[in-house]
Amino acid sequence: MSVLELRDVNAFYGNSHVLFDLDMDIEQNEVVALLGRNGAGKTTTLRTITGTIPRREGTITYRDDDISAASVNSISNAGVKLVPEERRVFPTLTVNENLQVAHDMCRGREPRPVEEMYDIFPVLGELRQNRGRNLSGGEQQMLSVARALIQSPDLLLLDEPTEGLAPVIVDDLYDVLSEVVAEDVTVLITEQNVDFALDLAERAYIIDKGANAWEGTVEELNEREDLLEEYLSVG
Ligand code: ATP
Repeated sequence: MSVLELRDVNAFYGNSHVLFDLDMDIEQNEVVALLGRNGAGKTTTLRTITGTIPRREGTITYRDDDISAASVNSISNAGVKLVPEERRVFPTLTVNENLQVAHDMCRGREPRPVEEMYDIFPVLGELRQNRGRNLSGGEQQMLSVARALIQSPDLLLLDEPTEGLAPVIVDDLYDVLSEVVAEDVTVLITEQNVDFALDLAERAYIIDKGANAWEGTVEELNEREDLLEEYLSVG
């Protein structure tokens, strides 16, 4: 069953044309990686899906609904949740308060209990009385993911979740996200850390200069060092 379909999607910042006729399909319970160099348009793609881009054209279908012109709130309420690149944590609120606010602000879907987040993220349980500003980068990222999860996402969009994290924290995040993807949630993840994304995902899209460059299974991509070199400058 199709969860998300992009057809001929174009996006603009003012007069600057950033996405060009982008196509993408994501099926129920898939984990899909969106890869590409810095500036290729990955963040813009996620912002186009969530409706925060100033100007978008083309067709975006979410579970049979045309959301091409839908508001940010209605897209979120329908179950599309973004964990943005810049971690969205309230600095003066405690971990518990951060989760409670995300819980109470949830509209359109039944939020999960705060306590459940402490089962998934034991480290957050230990830190529940600490303020957001006193958390490390890794702890803030866990909290940022937990704030999205508590709102029972149907489609979870993760924008470079490992950025700036120490390797040991990246491993912790991997364990948590593996648990998340085993649940009934569909995931689109962008990453500079290609290995991280490809370990988690089954299928991948590569975009280059805002346009589709390649799509296929992770198994196929792992055999294609030429693609990794051409579009991702690694390998
Ligand atoms: P990164 O890994 O650096 O975030 P990305 O693949 O996510 O890269 P985007 O952030 O989507 O790329 O940027 C795509 C293009 O849009 C870039 O050329 C960027 O300079 C431009 N861009 C991004 N945000 C804005 C903005 N607010 N106003 C104008 N141009 C922007």
